[in-house]
Amino acid sequence: MLSTSLLPKHHSKWSDRQREVLQGIVKDFSLSTPQLEALTVQFVDQMRVGLSEQQSKDLAMIPTFVTGRPDGKERGSFLALDLGGTNLRVCLISLKGDHKLESHHKAFKVSDHLQQADVKELMDFIAVSINEFITSEHINAKICEHPSDSESLELGFTFSFPVAQTAVDAGKLLRWTKGFSCPGAVGADIVQLLQEALDRNKVNVHVAALVNDTVGTLLAHSYINPGTYIGAIFGTGTNGAYVEKTHNIKTMTSDASEMIINIEWGNFDKEKAFLPVTIFDNKLDRESINPGVHVFEKMISGMYLGEITRNVLLHLIDQRVLFEGTSSPKLNQHWVFETKFMSAIEEDDSASLIPTAQILEQELDIKINTQADREIVKFVCQLVGIRAARLSAMATAAVIRQGVEVGALREYEYPLQLSIYDKGDVDLNGQPKIESLSISGNGNGNGNSNRVVDPNKQTIHVGIDGSVFEHYPHFKERMEQCLVELLGPHVMDIVKLGIARDGSGVGAALAALIATKAANDSR
Ligand code: ADP
Ligand code: MG
Repeated sequence: MLSTSLLPKHHSKWSDRQREVLQGIVKDFSLSTPQLEALTVQFVDQMRVGLSEQQSKDLAMIPTFVTGRPDGKERGSFLALDLGGTNLRVCLISLKGDHKLESHHKAFKVSDHLQQADVKELMDFIAVSINEFITSEHINAKICEHPSDSESLELGFTFSFPVAQTAVDAGKLLRWTKGFSCPGAVGADIVQLLQEALDRNKVNVHVAALVNDTVGTLLAHSYINPGTYIGAIFGTGTNGAYVEKTHNIKTMTSDASEMIINIEWGNFDKEKAFLPVTIFDNKLDRESINPGVHVFEKMISGMYLGEITRNVLLHLIDQRVLFEGTSSPKLNQHWVFETKFMSAIEEDDSASLIPTAQILEQELDIKINTQADREIVKFVCQLVGIRAARLSAMATAAVIRQGVEVGALREYEYPLQLSIYDKGDVDLNGQPKIESLSISGNGNGNGNSNRVVDPNKQTIHVGIDGSVFEHYPHFKERMEQCLVELLGPHVMDIVKLGIARDGSGVGAALAALIATKAANDSR
């Protein structure tokens, strides 16, 4: 289904040799429904392992100590900090109640140097940036009607790296990802490092909460759409957070009934036991700053998709079916093929693919390219882009499945089809070994359209942030198509994928509010 619907309009001009080589690439990158279904089963399995064991697991399933979800009535002004990629953003978020808010922010570029520098230097940079923002915006504690009566400004910190959280305002960095490698941070408490830098630089700000960007996204989306179940990121990296019943979390105890879990799904199946990684993925992984981890993330997210595409293009050049077998010194360099080029190329619907030619010529120094070359480049982008969207949907489907089977979606009846493959029912290279059967979430839904449903209760909101989801053409539609394959024809009546733009900033502020309230209550 995937390969045929993908064949470009003008593919008839391709030579037999080009077709033959491309057929191999199609095979490498296509993911059939049964394959994805089998991955979903593995994903749910690894989630449950992560919820029950402390150590050595693929999905860390980190309890966040965030036990409430906003309902949109929250009020107050909070600082928010978002560090997770190339930019540091400092924001002031004013929650107005009634699902409304105002925010403004300033972005500071985190230089390549800072991404590798001692963590103290990075934290000093953050403290100074916060100070610059507060000073230029004339922000002081008096304007912030929040529950704490302290003189300092309360800040929520969205820190989008794997952290073992021990409280809402404490957590140790497990490992750097996404190109960061600052010494002195792994194993240290991130809140403490930042608070010390703030104190050192005489910035009167209190770090009230530390959240992952996925958690922030979930909270922010919930402020607008109460009851949001999943927060996900498809940006530089990828990850998801969701609401779990605390009785399913064996790695900690809590009086609350629900807690948000940071899945750290970028690390799904790090052994590559189930993911159909290609030689192109392996090459990328080997040459990355963190080989052997976040293999799943490396198949999906913005930092990597362009590089996978570049690896495939070089292979096609070496097979002499692209650019007459000639690369350029530029294209030979790591990371020069940016994911945003893929977006532009996929966007290019012109008959002779002129915008694609411009990217090849201007960005990659490929001066001679035929119509067939450009079609092949576009085709490769599609293969890599579609695989990314389908894997993203697979993870989303798995989390929904966990919720419906044993978790926070259990109370409701959803007419979702959860197929009943067991491990072993599907051979990962393709076909189901047995006839697939379908049942519905929680017993008897089975697409029962006569049942009267409460639309508020029935909607499973998924808040998503990140440039790949927001800007990559068809990414959302491709995810939706795949969710239908995995959860049945009615799934999109129930599951709403929505952009939670600026989710991490607003979410950090909401986390600071929740934490400040909790601290006040316990005083
Ligand atoms: P972050 O994840 O760091 O918070 P973003 O969500 O903006 O930031 O994601 C940045 C990533 O998105 C980069 O890896 C970049 O390659 C990719 N990206 C930027 N623009 C586009 C685009 N138009 N289409 C697809 N990917 C893009
Ligand atoms: Mg982000």
